[in-house]
Amino acid sequence: MICIHKPTIPDVLLTKGTPARQKHCDDYDASPDDYRSGAKKFQFDDSIYAATEVKDELRERQHKKCAFCESFFAHTGYGDIEHFRPKGAYQQRETDSLKYPGYYWLAYEWSNLFYSCQLCNQQYKRNLFPLRDGRSRARSHRHNIANEQPLLVDPGGQEPSDYIEFRDEIAFPVKGCREGIITIEVLGLNREELVDIRGERLNRLRDLVLLRDLLREKVATIPTPEYSQRLRDVEATLQASKDDTAEYAAMARAVLV
Ligand SMILES: [Zn+2]
Repeated sequence: MICIHKPTIPDVLLTKGTPARQKHCDDYDASPDDYRSGAKKFQFDDSIYAATEVKDELRERQHKKCAFCESFFAHTGYGDIEHFRPKGAYQQRETDSLKYPGYYWLAYEWSNLFYSCQLCNQQYKRNLFPLRDGRSRARSHRHNIANEQPLLVDPGGQEPSDYIEFRDEIAFPVKGCREGIITIEVLGLNREELVDIRGERLNRLRDLVLLRDLLREKVATIPTPEYSQRLRDVEATLQASKDDTAEYAAMARAVLV
């Protein structure tokens, strides 16, 4: 996971999302008990939060990668518009039953939206949104989410590397922090397939590091234009592996020196 910058709010979230949010808030105020018991549920409008302009903007800002696992997946799936704070219902922990309502007032909120692969969203994160203290949870639009201390790292508002580091291809919590432990667990950041593919990436990068070091020795002793150019190319490739646009950049940044 790396930091995601989303400076431009798609128009549809303002023109259609704002009135839709107001409608949900009015509905809640009219019968809060029904929404809290789950007897009434909100009907969210995916033509707003998953509008093409929203998807396109997120895809671009996230460099076509999943917000959580940093995999490119546009060639294997459409991807999901993921609500960081779940809109319909939530769970503090996996063994809990679903609690209603979810963060309905954030269903069309730009800061709450990410683009994620289906595995991260549907198989791992789902409705989980654990807090350090569940009693501080915002249960309606009348509560302030600033009072919450989420245990999931928010790539839109926090620096993920403050919480999650890598030892080789394995994600670890920085200094054993709870946010790191829970984020890795809830999002399945060490799931087998992901660890395998990060391992393959790392092997290739380490081969390049070896080649870079050999070329540096060559250039120091026999500085031919060919060796010098090859060295620049390898150094550029290694540097690019840490760019926001690179798959698994968080691992490359943590592991490569
Ligand atoms: Zn993912």
